[in-house]
Amino acid sequence: MTRRCDRNRKRSKRRPIYCPMHGCYMDSASRKHTLFADKPEHLQQRGMKRLSALTLIQNYTAVPLTDEWLEAFWCQDCQTKSWYHVRRQENLQSQGVKYHYELSIAPESLWRQASGVIQPGGNPSVGEFTRRAARDSRYQGVRGFGVIG
Ligand SMILES: [Zn+2]
Repeated sequence: MTRRCDRNRKRSKRRPIYCPMHGCYMDSASRKHTLFADKPEHLQQRGMKRLSALTLIQNYTAVPLTDEWLEAFWCQDCQTKSWYHVRRQENLQSQGVKYHYELSIAPESLWRQASGVIQPGGNPSVGEFTRRAARDSRYQGVRGFGVIG
């Protein structure tokens, strides 16, 4: 059986995103759908302290998760397009910052936290966030789950 795996092809501009099943490079097949936390538990699950999480959700209704999103990828080996929950991690190395991407098949429940998704009922809190953030110039986003000043 011939593997069409192209993991070893050097293309520096591509994000190093590989099929969890085959380890093959995958081509992006959609735009990124940013994930939002709209419940304090979403932030707590990601390591934020309960009080900070409660305060943030109270103030902003929904908070974008800057290093997580939903995106579709095409795998040549699978010959399928699948939606993945992508989590980006920064790795500090001697050559500078390198990104590491962790992929898992996107569970249905995550779509409720995604932006730009057309679905019945939509996600009112994500729209509400956008309006509030536009008014609040101090808003910096949540990065690495530090506390916003
Ligand atoms: Zn595959």
